[in-house]
Amino acid sequence: SAKNLGRGRIVTFDSALEQRRRDDMMMEQYLRKTLETEGIEVFYQPLVRTIDQTICGVEALARWSSSPLGRVPPDVFIPIAEKAGLIDMLGLQVLRKAIQATTAWPDVGVCVNVSPVQLQDNGFAHEVEAILTEAGIDPGRLTLEITEGVLISHPEQALKAITALKGLGVGVALDDFGTGFASIGMLRRFAFDRVKVDKSLVAALDTEQDAAAVLQATIALARAMGISVTVEGVETELQAGAASLYGCDVMQGYLYSKPMSEAEMMERYFTKWKSVSQ
Ligand code: C2E
Ligand code: MG
Ligand code: MG
Ligand code: MG
Repeated sequence: SAKNLGRGRIVTFDSALEQRRRDDMMMEQYLRKTLETEGIEVFYQPLVRTIDQTICGVEALARWSSSPLGRVPPDVFIPIAEKAGLIDMLGLQVLRKAIQATTAWPDVGVCVNVSPVQLQDNGFAHEVEAILTEAGIDPGRLTLEITEGVLISHPEQALKAITALKGLGVGVALDDFGTGFASIGMLRRFAFDRVKVDKSLVAALDTEQDAAAVLQATIALARAMGISVTVEGVETELQAGAASLYGCDVMQGYLYSKPMSEAEMMERYFTKWKSVSQ
């Protein structure tokens, strides 16, 4: 009967939620263990300068695999780390490893993602400073990537954190631009050094008629304010051609390279440099 069906559906819904909660808790426990043993890996994806197609930097991307769960994507474990209060530890582990790797590379920059939760911690800029000092690296080589959410939910706190980071000489980038509410006014107010145009704007070039005009206008506005523009998710020559025609400074995407381990990065891109400098 309809009544039974209704009850059955409620039971199913309850147990699905319950199951989900158990999965999250299990993942949280494994993640905690991985963090305690410094087991989060960092992969690197080249950033390619448009004008001469050379590598001007890399983006550091967290990778996690654990024996029972296998490889878990960041879009899954980052939100879990945020909810479980583990993101500060995770973020600093990624930052420390990325800075360490960068010290062994030629004069390229490194971009590291920062969770909105990390920015709400008043001590964040100090932690960053300590890591840079310990590694003895020029702070100008580091750019921290921030998503717009925190600018809208906690604008005062975000401004404080960004100002402190810029005071260290660290660059700040607005990540995933063009997907939400972040405005041109926000680029100016928070004094971003770079903007990263989200890959969905690039992907839309293949399917939506007005996508080219939107991409072009987005790049032009950022550049008019003196902000360097990186276009993410470049997968085809056609997309690269459009992004470069519209004046983007840096490109990132599978067309050039997927994210790879530190060892692979060294071998594929920096070996020559290493042999020359030693
Ligand atoms: P994001 O910061 O926007 O990073 C770019 C994402 O696009 C990466 O996904 C990268 O692998 C992917 N990508 C690069 N080129 C292409 C392409 O040509 N096509 C497509 N379809 N994708 C491309 P990934 O590594 O899975 O990371 C997903 C997101 O997880 C990141 O997006 C970032 O928001 C978050 N994340 C990753 N590592 C960290 C971290 O250490 N801390 C924090 N807070 N978030 C992180
Ligand atoms: Mg990013
Ligand atoms: Mg992005
Ligand atoms: Mg993202």
